[in-house]
Amino acid sequence: RTAIVLFTRDLRVHDHPALATTCAAFDRVVPLHVLDPALADRSPNRTRFLHECLADLRGSLRERGGDLVLRHGDPVAETIRLAGQVGAEAVALSADVSRYARRRERRLRAECERHRLHLRAFPGLTVVEPGALRPGGGDHYRVFSPYFRAWQAADRRTALAAPERVELPAGVPVGRLPARPAGESPDAVAGGESVGRERLRGWLPVLDRYPDLHDDLAGDGTSRLSPYLRFGCLSPLEVADRAGDRAHPFVRQLCWRDFYYQVTAAFPQLARTAYRAGVTEDWRYDTEALDAWTEGRTGVPIVDAGMRQLRAEGWMHNRARLITAGHLTKQLRLDWRAGLAVFGRWLLDGDVANNAGNWQWVAGTGHDTRPYRGFNPIRQAERYDPDGRYVRRWVPELAAVGGPAVHRPWRLPDPLRRTLDYPPPLPPAGPTPPWLR
Ligand code: FAD
Repeated sequence: RTAIVLFTRDLRVHDHPALATTCAAFDRVVPLHVLDPALADRSPNRTRFLHECLADLRGSLRERGGDLVLRHGDPVAETIRLAGQVGAEAVALSADVSRYARRRERRLRAECERHRLHLRAFPGLTVVEPGALRPGGGDHYRVFSPYFRAWQAADRRTALAAPERVELPAGVPVGRLPARPAGESPDAVAGGESVGRERLRGWLPVLDRYPDLHDDLAGDGTSRLSPYLRFGCLSPLEVADRAGDRAHPFVRQLCWRDFYYQVTAAFPQLARTAYRAGVTEDWRYDTEALDAWTEGRTGVPIVDAGMRQLRAEGWMHNRARLITAGHLTKQLRLDWRAGLAVFGRWLLDGDVANNAGNWQWVAGTGHDTRPYRGFNPIRQAERYDPDGRYVRRWVPELAAVGGPAVHRPWRLPDPLRRTLDYPPPLPPAGPTPPWLR
């Protein structure tokens, strides 16, 4: 008996419920990934990372006697075609929440029924499955704290070992992985489960430092596991289990991820439409200001540092994401959807649920009604980059300015300021805020 496991953004062999269950139940298993033109080119950084994940997954499956079968085109049509070629009777995949993924699963289900194939969707993208926890009288949690309490108390499945053997039917053409595409960010990390597991191994012993260091921009004390979680190179359940204490601040961040997944499952239009009903959206549309923000030349050093880190690494520190997003929506008063699109292009970890959920939170259109009112980037800079090291690292034009003075170059003495090749701040959308004077 033969079954197909359709890999999407669950690119690993460890704790992969769809793969482990299928390998246990079927004699032959065809691991398949379909390079989907509908998803290509949205982000060169993520396309490059994806290719590295696929190469690594192929290596792990080969070590187990199998392979990764690669096809190009519509994942539904290609899965059905392959099922016919290998005589499969079932298809397994990991359930996903985005609008696109759910439409793909619905179409696949309909086609599987037509071709008398059994389709089964498995968990694996989150620690706790979206929809598994519901507040009294509601379909999903809209507020984080009660969700976190329920999440900590919830029963969890047990993490699964990687299958020892994956038996591929004889004679299946496996397909070539195209040449590795170039990303856009020169300093982006490499993709793949092997690199992700290595990083996790290095991270767990220093977990104790997280509560003190996670908000220090220059200290860079967060896990940087997000791209590996985004592509499923790591199982979030395994990461949470291995971190231990469910109340640990790092584990709490994994719960934020689950939180936005269950929001997206209930509100799939999260990337387009304000989540909070009745909120007034009154944005400006100013291409020059948007370009300056995107390219890291707003003239506010802490904002420019964050945007330049994003472009260089395809990743940005969470505190810098809050500051840059706050600046776009609160000072420049530009539409959060424009910022979401820029993050979506560059971020290796960019995904609908976390990107849109966080942008809506910062913009004040999300579940929280009081975020960052009267947001002040200079106060943030002085608190989270007290000596300006993060700014000097990413804005070399300001490298000669010592200490926290780097946060307000407009206050430097004229002769010094004139030597710096750095722009004055963009004019704010409303009255000049006190920090800009
Ligand atoms: P750590 O601090 O080590 O946290 C561990 C893990 O918890 C992360 O890898 C991530 O999976 C999860 N996590 C942490 N913070 C959050 C959060 N606020 N919301 C949801 N999950 C979280 N994260 C993404 O994964 N993808 C995105 O597209 C994304 N867009 C964002 C946009 C904005 C405007 C903001 C403010 C935040 C966004 N985040 C996003 C959340 C957060 O900034 C990143 O997850 C985090 O910086 C990743 O770095 P890390 O792995 O070192 O995090």
